[in-house]
Amino acid sequence: LEQAPQLGNMNYSRFLTAVSAARKPSPIRLLTELQQLSPPTLISLAGGAPNPNTFPFHSASIKMKTGETVAFDETMMKRALQYSGSAGIPELVSWMKELQKRLHEPPTINFTPERGQLEMCVTTGSQEGLCKVFEMLVNPGDNVLLDAPTYSGTLAALQPLGCNIVNVPSDQHGMLPDALKDILAQWDPAGAHKPDSPRPKVLYTIPNGGNPTGASMTLERKQKVYELARKYDFLIIEDDPYYFLQFQKPWAPTFLSLDVDGRVIRTDSFSKILSSGLRIGFVTGPKPLVDRVVLHIQASTMHTSTFTQLMVSQLLHAWGQEGFLKHIDGVVEFYKAQRNAMLSSADKWLKDVADWHAPAAGMFLWIKLKGIKDTQQLIMEKALEKEVLLVPGGVFNIHSSEPCPYVRAAFSLSSPQQIDEAFKRLSALIKEAL
Ligand code: PMP
Ligand code: PLP
Repeated sequence: LEQAPQLGNMNYSRFLTAVSAARKPSPIRLLTELQQLSPPTLISLAGGAPNPNTFPFHSASIKMKTGETVAFDETMMKRALQYSGSAGIPELVSWMKELQKRLHEPPTINFTPERGQLEMCVTTGSQEGLCKVFEMLVNPGDNVLLDAPTYSGTLAALQPLGCNIVNVPSDQHGMLPDALKDILAQWDPAGAHKPDSPRPKVLYTIPNGGNPTGASMTLERKQKVYELARKYDFLIIEDDPYYFLQFQKPWAPTFLSLDVDGRVIRTDSFSKILSSGLRIGFVTGPKPLVDRVVLHIQASTMHTSTFTQLMVSQLLHAWGQEGFLKHIDGVVEFYKAQRNAMLSSADKWLKDVADWHAPAAGMFLWIKLKGIKDTQQLIMEKALEKEVLLVPGGVFNIHSSEPCPYVRAAFSLSSPQQIDEAFKRLSALIKEAL
């Protein structure tokens, strides 16, 4: 870490947990990576790689809906079935770096070795990346800032680390910068009631189409939060799996694109646009931190499935950025129509019994039921009887026992007719419960 490039005043070692700081490169993994970059004339007796001639699979051909195929001949198949580097296969990482440059290139740091500050790695879904980023940065007793309610998978990864989660008040446009400022001001030197615990080192947020709230943060708020990050010296974890599911264009500038210091760690996901089951995500951020995540990968999964990475990489190279973005346009169009269908069914059935905001991205409508104190019992006991299922909002609270009048409805999977029928049933359910 000492040799890692530093930028400005950023001292990354101060952010690391003891466990993360103690991680050392696996010597055998390093050889695998060396081999990945060497000419085929290299004779390696080094790796512990098994002989793929003993594997039962021969070749593969995957048909696209558009008629093209992703083909794995025998040689490619052998590679697909073999170990590969922990940061991801080089051609997938380089394709993604080009895309990140186009979408989010930060003003002062980039992927070129001379300025060598930004780095990227492949993860087995963004959930893996997030979990490893939290384990890298969060110590027991640390204060972690986030805008609750938030994704239950984030809480599942964070809470066992023994941190204290500090809720930053928010609305349908995300975190309220003034509220964040008030929270942070407690640690000002002149603060009258300075907390015993250390100043927060980490802020986590879902900037677009939040899960479960559907909230999307405005650029102005991101700028203000980023300024507070500079003033109080904390890192921002930007968990953005719904970035590509923004219904309005142009897409909102990201925290990464504002990052002049190297304090943003961004997680991207292919789950909502290529496949959730293939498990492909990415971590983008300051090289010293991404390198730590890769060391953790070396010691756990070793790498995301080579087969999966090759399959996705071949598709992306065949598509090019334009083809990829064209595919995204189609996905956005689908979810936008689904959102509109859900909103019109909500207007039709829920007007008197619930409140909501139209989401500008993502897959979720966050619905507040009027006159219902807690939706847990209503959903878990009565809703099934009525054959309609939603997520009771309490599961997204920091303290899951607190009563919550919200439910989360996903518009991703059901047809507009099913959504309409579901809201009809929900409306009857609420009226019975009142
Ligand atoms: N344990 C031992 C003793 C091994 O030799 C290896 C692989 N070299 C592993 C675990 C990891 O295996 P896998 O590829 O299934 O993660
Ligand atoms: N982060 C948020 C906010 C999510 O909603 C999800 C999935 O629901 C994830 C991360 C995990 O995504 P992945 O499938 O890429 O692990």
